[in-house]
Amino acid sequence: MCSIKQNLEQVTSQIDSAAQKCGRDAFGVQLLAVSKTKPIEAIAEAIQAGLRQFGENYVQEGVEKIAHFKETQPDLEWHFIGPIQSNKTKPIAENFDWVHSIDRNKVARRLSEQRPADMKPLQVLIQINTSGETSKSGAGFEDVKALAAEIDALPNLTLRGLMCIPQPEDDHQKQLEAFAPLSALYEEMKASRPEFDTLSMGMSGDMDAAIASGSTMVRIGTAIFGARDYSNRQ
Ligand SMILES: *Cc1c(COP(=O)(O)O)cnc(C)c1O
Repeated sequence: MCSIKQNLEQVTSQIDSAAQKCGRDAFGVQLLAVSKTKPIEAIAEAIQAGLRQFGENYVQEGVEKIAHFKETQPDLEWHFIGPIQSNKTKPIAENFDWVHSIDRNKVARRLSEQRPADMKPLQVLIQINTSGETSKSGAGFEDVKALAAEIDALPNLTLRGLMCIPQPEDDHQKQLEAFAPLSALYEEMKASRPEFDTLSMGMSGDMDAAIASGSTMVRIGTAIFGARDYSNRQ
């Protein structure tokens, strides 16, 4: 059995060499540890190994984990990365630091309205559907700029960049092709948005291609925590 600490060393060195290969500084690639379905003990082990940023996909599970670590680990940063139902925005607004998966105005508006006044603005990314018909989640490329303008008008959200989840694909060249349109859009928008600093792309199976394509944040679950077991989820 590999420990989380050993897995993390492996992932960190993979990020380093992927960055080196394309002439990037590895400090420009943040590692978000995706802890969905994993128990508190696994997160505690990851914290012990030095991780501070965690990604969760399910509202209730994420909120429980945040509550668990609130007193003992106040420096953790929690990212909501799953699909958002508009009737579930309140606990997200009240507990998370970041949201990667905003894809429509209704959700953005509710998150801003429900963000408690004593918390920092929610840091958000627009999720873009880069796989066309094969995926339901994410805004269409043609809708991104209008949605960004709508988010700009919301007082309790700060738009930091873009995110995508391409179809799983083993071939490195095809992975690069899947990331290219989002990288191009990110660079274009960043030119007029100084607060844009986050391009959330890359998971365990495609992080090298994501880094080569300019990702600034890879979301890594399996390569850190091992395979997930969904059998306990209803
Ligand atoms: C589960 C998940 C990940 C992590 O995927 P791995 O392949 O386990 O690294 C990353 N991003 C999102 C949005 C996810 O849902």
